[in-house]
Amino acid sequence: HLIIDYQTQKNLEIKNTQRENNYVGSLLWSIDRTYTCMGARCLRRWIDAPLLNVNEIYKRQNIISNFIESKQVRIDTQNLLRAMGDLERLAGRACAGHASPRDLIAIAEGLKKLPRLKSIIELFKYDLPDWTDELKNIDEKLLELADTISFQLIENPPLNISEGGMIHDGVDNILDGLRNLMDDYSEWLNKEELKERKISKISNLKIQFHKNFGYYISINKSKVNLAPHHWIKRQTLTNEERYITSEIKNKENKIFQIKSRASSREYEIFCELRNIVAEQTKQIRSIAKSIASLDALLGLSITSLENNFTKPSLKPINDSLTKNSTKIIAGRNPIVEQLLNDKKFIANDIYFDDNQKLIILTGPNASGKSCFIRQIGLIQILAQIGSFVPANNAEIKISDRIFTRIGAVDDQSSGQSTFMVEMSETASILNQATSSSLVLLDEIGRGTSTFDGLSIAWSVSEYLAKKIKCNTIFATHYHELNYLKNSNKNIENFQVLVEQNNDELIFSHKIAKGGSNKSYGIEAAKLAGVPREVIEKAKSVLNSLEENNKLNNNID
Ligand code: ADP
Repeated sequence: HLIIDYQTQKNLEIKNTQRENNYVGSLLWSIDRTYTCMGARCLRRWIDAPLLNVNEIYKRQNIISNFIESKQVRIDTQNLLRAMGDLERLAGRACAGHASPRDLIAIAEGLKKLPRLKSIIELFKYDLPDWTDELKNIDEKLLELADTISFQLIENPPLNISEGGMIHDGVDNILDGLRNLMDDYSEWLNKEELKERKISKISNLKIQFHKNFGYYISINKSKVNLAPHHWIKRQTLTNEERYITSEIKNKENKIFQIKSRASSREYEIFCELRNIVAEQTKQIRSIAKSIASLDALLGLSITSLENNFTKPSLKPINDSLTKNSTKIIAGRNPIVEQLLNDKKFIANDIYFDDNQKLIILTGPNASGKSCFIRQIGLIQILAQIGSFVPANNAEIKISDRIFTRIGAVDDQSSGQSTFMVEMSETASILNQATSSSLVLLDEIGRGTSTFDGLSIAWSVSEYLAKKIKCNTIFATHYHELNYLKNSNKNIENFQVLVEQNNDELIFSHKIAKGGSNKSYGIEAAKLAGVPREVIEKAKSVLNSLEENNKLNNNID
């Protein structure tokens, strides 16, 4: 699968944001519209391991297309999934012997939805992933299992499995026999109640039951003087007096015995049922995985509709016919676009082929360079998990790995300096990238002296473009790198356009061909409140440095 190393996962904020480690603001947050926990987990797995095989990716896309083409199918599937428990986890609990009666009921309810899911899948067109076969040819044993569970367990069983009250009548002869005995005792208690009413002349007397005290006669306090001699006082409450009789106590022992036998029998039946379910764990888990995949793709179809995504066409890794081109027209960053709310996201194109492998991207701070380079990585990942992508049109060459080098953070815990971290990341890219990799670089060489850094950035770029020949974007403030294009045919310069209105910078976030020769760093420092005197001095130093810099004369 497409390898996204730990650093890249962090840089591209795949599952959590970099700064605060939040889920909100991550790629997963921007695309997860699943209905079940198992669907959400499936999407997570996919995003950890996007596919390389174009046909497999197309098969996932086909399911999204089916959902997009029919609102009714989407609604029907949503309704089924919404009421579906987490079959994967429930089956796991049954297997480990931890499932409660409610878990088994949830399994049964989930399994009973399979025939309706089947009829939805049967409507689907196009070539579908293999896992859909399992939903089309439902294992009859699973439906029988669901029926067995519903036949044996009552719909709303108690949480406590040791006190009975969970198995239906008619499931087990022994349990039925014990319950008949219990009925006889209830009848006896009813008769006893009538008898004591007659004797005491207390017409609202009741025989009741308390967990700790057992059976007792309850009367209103006002009737205390009517209590006959054979009643033994047990408890006095504010408005109530409680008594027992020797007959009731005698019967009580027998009732308790029967009750306890019935509860143990229920427990035995339940455990047998749980074992039967456990035997089918593998099948339940397997069908749950198919349901989870369906949920993930339904969610992606909803994301696509909500955010106006488009179906990308894909080019295999080893394809000599296609000039190895990747073309994204009006691409958008799915995370930033959703975070912007009312502000409009500015879409940008990108094009890579054998003649344009490395893009040097220049532009001032906060103009949108990082957003753009991340967007290319995110679109690549989305395309390879089978999702549609935020663009008007996209043709994407499959990548084997995505590498990123973004930002410079001192790794204090491992005692490495900013520059050493930067260089070891750069080394690992240069040592591992292939011609099918996507490399996203946001500054290299900033942690050392200007000429040192520039020289490293220069030679790294040439190595990537000439030797490795992978698709690369290199966002940088070193305008001198724009000269690389003159000696390397497959390097092209792009810039983020910006207008300067007196002291104010206006960011259009629009990316265009050509290199910018100004960083606007001093303007940014001024906006940030650096004292005027310092700013003026900086300007004059910059002027003299630029005059002395022969390289700065004829940028293309
Ligand atoms: P840079 O890397 O050039 O310093 P960023 O990529 O961090 O700039 O962008 C700065 C901010 O500009 C982002 O947080 C985002 O709010 C906004 N922005 C960037 N690109 C776009 C875009 N294409 N459309 C709209 N807003 C954008």
